Amino acid sequence: MSDSTPIFNDRNTGRSKLINPTLVLNCGSSSIKYALISEDESTRITGLAENLGLDTARIKHTTLNGEKLEITIPGGRHELALQKILALLEQYHFIAVGHRVVHGGREYSKAVRVDQHVLDEVKRLKILAPLHNPANALGIEAVEAIYPDIPQVVVFDTAFHQTMPPVAYRYPIPKALYEEEKIRRYGFHGTSHAYVSERASTLTDTKGPHGWLTAHLGNGCSASAVYNGESLDTSMGLTPLEGLMMGTRSGDVDPSLHIHLKRKLGMSLEEVDTMLNSESGLLGISGLSNDLRTIEQAANEGHKDAQLAIEMFCYRVGKYLASLSCALPDFTGIVFTGGIGENSSTTRARILDVMRHFGINFDADKNDELVGGAEGNFQEQDSSIELWVVPTDEECQIAKETRQALGLK
Ligand code: ADP
Repeated sequence: MSDSTPIFNDRNTGRSKLINPTLVLNCGSSSIKYALISEDESTRITGLAENLGLDTARIKHTTLNGEKLEITIPGGRHELALQKILALLEQYHFIAVGHRVVHGGREYSKAVRVDQHVLDEVKRLKILAPLHNPANALGIEAVEAIYPDIPQVVVFDTAFHQTMPPVAYRYPIPKALYEEEKIRRYGFHGTSHAYVSERASTLTDTKGPHGWLTAHLGNGCSASAVYNGESLDTSMGLTPLEGLMMGTRSGDVDPSLHIHLKRKLGMSLEEVDTMLNSESGLLGISGLSNDLRTIEQAANEGHKDAQLAIEMFCYRVGKYLASLSCALPDFTGIVFTGGIGENSSTTRARILDVMRHFGINFDADKNDELVGGAEGNFQEQDSSIELWVVPTDEECQIAKETRQALGLK
């Protein structure tokens, strides 16, 4: 979730409930999100170290009693922040650490325990995730230095999508680029797609195999086709730039755009890459912000570019979901998640309007009620498919996969 979402989950009901906790770490390029989650997943402490490397670097932490702490660490980088975080959590005797790692390449189709080989692979895969994998590796090494005896596990964002068949993961480009350079579609947001599809399968009354389209719509956005718990296709590709329009990322554009902009404007490949990753999407079209709340407000006040940004966003999600439905042998329903998917009922309604030939029918009031962390469905009885809102919980999924990888409960 973004920095703007509540940082502290006050689910803390007492130290005695924080039994055999797993520490989940998500080390980004300038931030570290953490969560300490009890074995039964009912209790957790969460926090965030942000602005790492800057004068404003700080840790926001809540104690088990609900007391909020802010610790400033001016200029502090990952190592210092992790030392402080580990010192804050030491008293709870965590039994394992699970790291979110962005890229697992072709090698990893599930979470694995960290050893030297795994750590080397995480570093080597920097070529596929230059901003993320190095920060993830730093986190592993910092924990190893302080707690060499606590088992660590890496949970890859790409792993869930390793079940995709070649027809979905190959690009129609020369074979040697796949075989020698591993150029293929990997997909991301795997822990979120895994969590919400499994949750929807648990919640639904429908028996038999389940085919879900999961729409993770946050700052980063991706959609997946998940059949019987296996990802069969997804919208992100070699990198998280492919697919849906996002907060600042363009999603799909003509691959010839790079050469065109080079010829026409003399832009370098790096400049085009930055433009597509950081200056496009909702921000690029609206000219206002990457935050949908700001854009929705401006659109309501008549801002034409904000209105177009929302229309394009919804059109592109609907179009992608329609095409991803081809991957599913059976289409049980759509699951919305992520900051936008969980909170913007108008966006959900617009996306479903784009898919008007699918025989989807939904209860508008129920849709409006499913915001702010609510979980539930909103299809009418005669709808061709089910419609669910499931708040994602990537930390919980990482803690679960960490325990599984270690053969713990
Ligand atoms: P990230 O990908 O960084 O984890 P989030 O999942 O937190 O992002 O989603 C951030 C997006 O969710 C932003 O575009 C934000 O505007 C949007 N969002 C959050 N709450 C609401 C809301 N109540 N209404 C509309 N959009 C919302």
